[in-house]
Amino acid sequence: MKNTKLWITAVVVIFIAAVVWCIIILTKPQGNIVTVTQDGKTLYTLDLSKEKDRRIKVEYDGRENVIEIKDGRIRMLEANCPDHTCINTGWLENVPIVCLPNKLAIEFSDKETDAIAR
Ligand SMILES: [Zn+2]
Repeated sequence: MKNTKLWITAVVVIFIAAVVWCIIILTKPQGNIVTVTQDGKTLYTLDLSKEKDRRIKVEYDGRENVIEIKDGRIRMLEANCPDHTCINTGWLENVPIVCLPNKLAIEFSDKETDAIAR
């Protein structure tokens, strides 16, 4: 019986450790540096910790994207691309916001995280 209890304890501890580990990985503070690139060119490099709330309009081939910065977060507010995948991505987190039709990408620059890792 004692053995069973030990096993249950071990499993619970491992489970909790796994959950905590997942939370740490998922909420790992990203750098605040965000790059907005279009067609391989960097349009903006933004430090979200310093940016005021604002909107940035980006045009491409007659189409328009509106990027919104609010409360230190960034997202695609409006886009007249056909799929709207970029808008549906929501606020920028781990996954880059990409607007394929307009060749626009918003993502965290890994330069800063690299610097921390080293
Ligand atoms: Zn889009």
